Amino acid sequence: MVEKPQLPENYPESRLYRIRHSAAHIMAQAVLEYFPGAKITIGPPIEDGFYYDFDLPRPITHDDLEKIEARMKEIIKGKHDFVRREVTPEEARELFKDQPYKLELIEDILSRGTDEYGNPLPEGQTPTLSIYQHDTFIDLCRGPHVANSAEINPKAVKLMSIAGAYWRGDETKPMLTRIYGTAWESPKELRQYLQWLEEAKKRDHRVLGKQLGLFYFAPDEIGPGIPMFTPKGEIVRHLLESFVREVQTRYGFLHVWTGNIVKEDLYAKSGHLQNYADVMYPPMVDQNSGERFRLKPMNCPSHMTLYKKMGKHSYRELPLRFSEFATVYRYEKKGELHGLTRVRSLTQDDCHIFCTPEQIQSEFAMLLELVQEILGRFHLTDYQVRLSLRGEGGKYVDDPEKWNKAEAALRAALDASGLDYVEATGEAAFYGPKADFIAQDTLGREWQLSTIQVDFIQPARLGLTYIGPDGEEHTPVVLHRAIMGSTERFMGVLIEHYAGAFPVWLSPVQAVLIPIADRHVPYCQQVAQELRRAGLRVEVDDSSARMNAKIRTAQKQKVPYMLVVGDKEVESQQVAVRLRSGENLGPMQVADFLQKAQEDIAAGI
Ligand SMILES: [Zn+2]
Ligand SMILES: [Zn+2]
Repeated sequence: MVEKPQLPENYPESRLYRIRHSAAHIMAQAVLEYFPGAKITIGPPIEDGFYYDFDLPRPITHDDLEKIEARMKEIIKGKHDFVRREVTPEEARELFKDQPYKLELIEDILSRGTDEYGNPLPEGQTPTLSIYQHDTFIDLCRGPHVANSAEINPKAVKLMSIAGAYWRGDETKPMLTRIYGTAWESPKELRQYLQWLEEAKKRDHRVLGKQLGLFYFAPDEIGPGIPMFTPKGEIVRHLLESFVREVQTRYGFLHVWTGNIVKEDLYAKSGHLQNYADVMYPPMVDQNSGERFRLKPMNCPSHMTLYKKMGKHSYRELPLRFSEFATVYRYEKKGELHGLTRVRSLTQDDCHIFCTPEQIQSEFAMLLELVQEILGRFHLTDYQVRLSLRGEGGKYVDDPEKWNKAEAALRAALDASGLDYVEATGEAAFYGPKADFIAQDTLGREWQLSTIQVDFIQPARLGLTYIGPDGEEHTPVVLHRAIMGSTERFMGVLIEHYAGAFPVWLSPVQAVLIPIADRHVPYCQQVAQELRRAGLRVEVDDSSARMNAKIRTAQKQKVPYMLVVGDKEVESQQVAVRLRSGENLGPMQVADFLQKAQEDIAAGI
């Protein structure tokens, strides 16, 4: 497995960052020369390289990209200085008079104090209009850049791909052409990056999902961002959810179910209508009563309502842990949908723990164990925890005393767990501190999966109470928690993590029987039956294809075991076992194979 070249520590201040930012400017120069009349917008460095968004007079092709890349290399070899200069508003407007997007950004910098990408400036920085020039190209830019293009190795720069992107990410604004490029310090790093990318592409869950026949989208018929799972895909979904359910039950969770539509009033009370309106689907109105309903975007208000309906609660019943596999609907922007990792219908493994303030620490410690057990089962053992704490400012409601105690409780539990964690001050939700788990997959990519959040606000808003030891009513604290995040997203991550070769326990088909000739089919059917009765998921490939083709098909389907049957096997009542890796285990008794499979399943491999 090739590793992705590491980014330098403190990347935004590194030489590589300046190289990439300068390469973006050089690309913009080459594009302007190639497409006279093109309009330029913004072009920042990103994790894997850089991009620049253009408004072009005609659609761009891969042929164009090659020519633009060749011109970039010439410009780099020209050894041009990158020179910074501050300009007055008048001068800026004059310089960019033919560049309407830049003019818009200039006005933003002046009126709203943003940076040249239209983002708010970090605190303490005052807006300035500065430009960078190299050769004939001038960009509105705060830098930083290399001093001279000679610092860029032309053999370590490559244009990668073309995509569409809305101006300012806004669907109502013009669609621009985004050109992605990458740049590294050395050609060797570039080669390594390209190799890594090649492997990553083969693992793309959208490609593998089709190849393995796990799920489909039908944007025209069903709607964008709504995955449909095939029988095989549904096996994986179901196994994931059953596994999590089984572990949760051991940890004292109670499973509930709360429906898909909810009266809009409840979201007004909980505060979601005010804060999450843009991701909620529009209301459905009851023609008779005029009542307004919403597709459920999250489960918290439903679980809290259920808590209330179940009667008065005593401190003795707490902590009370509700869990639900709940499909919720979120109106994600079309351009941001991405396979299973960004969808509009998602099934959360959503839990809400109702507890006393004193129980926060022990509940959090229990959740840390639970997360480790569940992620560990998927060999996602390399992760970091980000503890998000309160910052300055009025966004953090409720009393500081509660915050201090809760933050101290989370920190103490994390310290005791021995987990690696970083603190992020000012990143907490307005309703309480939280911990997020960022796991690394086999390609070294980071995914935010599990999250645990403390909530002081919603329980009070929705009027939840419990009777304390003092006989008085108190407001419980709620911990929101998801481990997979959503079944869909987690499945997408796992497909890439395993490159489609799920561990045996999770494989939709665990063994395929491969008869060499038609006369071996009845014996194969009989063995398949026997294995199915023992709990394995087994198919018989009785197609007319030749044995080698059948083996290749099964390997492509990433089936863990192939059981080949010819005259010898029928006679000795055996099966010849091959693994998807190509390893040949030879003939064995059916009972011995079954034992091996059961051992692999138990071991989680
Ligand atoms: Zn720039
Ligand atoms: Zn919640």
